[in-house]
Amino acid sequence: MKKIKWEMIKEGILDWLYPRHIKCIFCNEELDENSHNDTCVDCLSKLPFIKSPCPRCGGERNENNDGVCLNCKTNNFDFSIARSVFVYTDDIVKVIHKYKYNYLKYLSEPLAGFMTDYFATSDLSVDFITAVPLHENRLKERGFNQSELLARALGTKFNIKYLDLCVKIVDNSRQASLGFAERKANVKGAYKIKGEYKKTIKDKTIMIVDDVYTTGATTSEIARVIKDAGARDVVVFTLAHGQGDGQSEEVENKKDK
Ligand SMILES: [Zn+2]
Ligand SMILES: [Zn+2]
Repeated sequence: MKKIKWEMIKEGILDWLYPRHIKCIFCNEELDENSHNDTCVDCLSKLPFIKSPCPRCGGERNENNDGVCLNCKTNNFDFSIARSVFVYTDDIVKVIHKYKYNYLKYLSEPLAGFMTDYFATSDLSVDFITAVPLHENRLKERGFNQSELLARALGTKFNIKYLDLCVKIVDNSRQASLGFAERKANVKGAYKIKGEYKKTIKDKTIMIVDDVYTTGATTSEIARVIKDAGARDVVVFTLAHGQGDGQSEEVENKKDK
């Protein structure tokens, strides 16, 4: 009870400090009738939308061909495809970090709005939505799972049921920046499916939602666990894509101490 009260007070203060739907979430300028997802027209025109995604991991392809990107040629993922809205640039990172590290929970609305826009015209077709779970220690500290809020908003918008499918059983957040292979070994066994969902997901396609795609190792491990439990296919959808080069992971891990 005490905790709920404090949460409400905290949200009230944050609402007062950062009034919603009035200022642009990127540049803090006043919004007008042409703004979209709480973003002003000027910022909308500069957002780093992914234009030519790798068919496998969804990152912006720098190579001049139609095949998969270099990372996907060497990494073996357990999800079939991943898609992201934005390239992981400084502007995007700033807003995502405000959302999860400054606890500005209301930013889930406009950020989910960009994911909604993307999903509506994407090649993603799924039966259920879930999110990358936080370890309970982290959830207690932050008060919300940033990926779950995005996932639930998508589910509500497209009438796809959200499943609280997995739990993180190992608190391995304090780790050095690792490449895909090391990271893959490091997250192995960190996630578990809740037994009661095994029947529900049998032969279904599940979409895992996360805020940032770093190396793909975490979502790949969760995909493996979900498929082992009987799902037919797993796809991944994130707000931003760090191009799988490990740099985005370094930033996220440092912040995620
Ligand atoms: Zn702006
Ligand atoms: Zn790729």
